[in-house]
Amino acid sequence: MILELRDIYKEYQQGKMVVPVLNHVDFTMEEGEYVAIMGPSGSGKTTLMNIIGCLDKATSGEFYMDGQDVNKCSENEMSDLRLHKLGFVFQSFHLLPRQSALENVEMPLNYAGVPKKLRKERAFKALERVGLADRVTFKPNQLSGGQMQRVAIARAIVNDPKILLADEPTGALDSKSSSQVMDLFQRLNDEGVTILMITHDPEIAEYAGRTVLIRDGELTEKGGSGHGEGA
Ligand code: ADP
Ligand code: MG
Repeated sequence: MILELRDIYKEYQQGKMVVPVLNHVDFTMEEGEYVAIMGPSGSGKTTLMNIIGCLDKATSGEFYMDGQDVNKCSENEMSDLRLHKLGFVFQSFHLLPRQSALENVEMPLNYAGVPKKLRKERAFKALERVGLADRVTFKPNQLSGGQMQRVAIARAIVNDPKILLADEPTGALDSKSSSQVMDLFQRLNDEGVTILMITHDPEIAEYAGRTVLIRDGELTEKGGSGHGEGA
């Protein structure tokens, strides 16, 4: 199991008020799966993604990633997990505006201390993988939204992460770019990349092998469709 969450509870402290956001969340994922988490705005999707992404900790419950007990991890160990086991894709791309596509993709390799020549080679290969070999010197403002998201996806996979985490990856894209990004996710998954994607769009969730629903902080497995059931 690549992800195992048991009875996860998360609350935020808002002044004197306690805001419960996730309740009794149980969720597991096997290596190679492609899972969508679907739910309306405010249901706790990003909160859950931040916990799985080792950016935040649950208030209580158990969380194992690739066999490692994340709750027992220090800040440094969590940032190592982010750097070596996870790739992140966001709705708004989060590219550095003054850096070229290649430099943006190199960024995680910088943090990982990979030497310059190897960095460039691997970043170029990642951009090739997302179909942007002819755009490596372009800055974000010289790229379309769909191309910017593909640069962000190249950056997310350049470290060969265990899991690709995507929070509303098509939320800022038109329908044509959205389906290109979904085709790319499909191809990466076929090549063995494990993907966990958040969306509020049922058409986007259709691309995943399995969908779970979140509503008011509670997770339920969606039955019926998909081919990842019962894994
Ligand atoms: P989604 O991504 O599904 O739209 P979020 O996980 O962002 O939902 O938020 C779920 C709930 O948690 C919302 O009611 C939101 O107001 C609340 N929330 C999110 N972050 C915080 C925070 N830092 N402090 C207090 N409440 C928060
Ligand atoms: Mg959100």
